[in-house]
Amino acid sequence: MSKHTSFRVGGPARYFVKADSMESLKNALSFAREKHLPHFILGNGTNLLVADKGYDGVIISLAGDFSEILDLGNGKFKVGAATPLGRFARHTLKQGYAGIHKLAGIPGTLGGAVYMNAGAYGQEIGQACTGVTVLDAVGNTRELSADECGFGYRRSVFSNGNSGAGDDNGKIILAATFQLQSASSQGLTAADLEAELAECMAKRKATQPLNKPNAGSTFKRLEVGAAETPAQLAPGYYIEQAGLKGYRIGSAEVSTLHANFIVNAGGATARDIKSLSEYVQNKVSEKFRIELKREIILLGKF
Ligand SMILES: Cc1cc2nc3c(=O)[nH]c(=O)nc-3n(C[C@H](O)[C@H](O)[C@H](O)COP(=O)(O)OP(=O)(O)OC[C@H]3O[C@@H](n4cnc5c(N)ncnc54)[C@H](O)[C@@H]3O)c2cc1C
Repeated sequence: MSKHTSFRVGGPARYFVKADSMESLKNALSFAREKHLPHFILGNGTNLLVADKGYDGVIISLAGDFSEILDLGNGKFKVGAATPLGRFARHTLKQGYAGIHKLAGIPGTLGGAVYMNAGAYGQEIGQACTGVTVLDAVGNTRELSADECGFGYRRSVFSNGNSGAGDDNGKIILAATFQLQSASSQGLTAADLEAELAECMAKRKATQPLNKPNAGSTFKRLEVGAAETPAQLAPGYYIEQAGLKGYRIGSAEVSTLHANFIVNAGGATARDIKSLSEYVQNKVSEKFRIELKREIILLGKF
């Protein structure tokens, strides 16, 4: 799985299936059932830490038919779960629509973004989503309204109750629909949106350790009310105050650039990364009595 995750760690999957159509997805699910194995839907593996022993089940990676963007007119889009979020965000921007253009730098798929309601720079995928098409646990295709998706800060009905083992609550995200507003309705042009995106990308480049394998933010922002200033809602503030920037376990390192990122400094194991995240949680709890909640999803036995 080290080839399929942005941390570049993780042992082998017992089976790995690329499902490029509804038929092949259903076949993969039947195969897992016949073998009495669990399955796991993989996006681009950019929010995921897979155990060194790997995953004793069937990894299903959506592709092909699940990568389509349909323009339905007037800012309406239907997008397949395997579509890279960046491709969709740039597509809307080029058509002159605002709403998710600032998410173009998030390296995941649309399905992964919906699963955890990915967001950045004041935009969240759930804000523009009008519905999600899912395959439920008994094999029926269903349409969920945006309300039924329960979008909140880095969570949705798909990830709620997540045990940390990548549980999709039995629902596989197949596609999602969006309604965006034209830039002109907000007094903006497509060039303005380009400029906004360029600013976000420059901020990412300046503040994130993009030259070393990582999985984005390790911990979720604190809930409003838990701290006094916006800076104090950021886990990185406490991690840095605890003196942990640059702290290492094995080859896993708290980034010296962004304290809420753990990087694989070269040859890290999944165990190193998990141990380091727990060490950080313990130190921040001891020092500040604050409980950091992990954003990164764990898969397999550690
Ligand atoms: C450099 C970097 C920067 C990042 N910046 C941001 C940021 O600004 N904001 C942000 O929110 N995140 C950020 N991330 C984290 C990550 O990119 C997002 O969480 C992204 O949405 C994960 O998508 P993915 O396709 O990689 O999902 P994966 O990591 O493959 O999977 C994540 C979870 O989603 C589930 N899932 C994926 N697809 C489906 C599906 N079709 N149906 C059901 N479940 C599914 C998986 O089972 C798993 O539980 C960043 C990561 C990196 C490496």
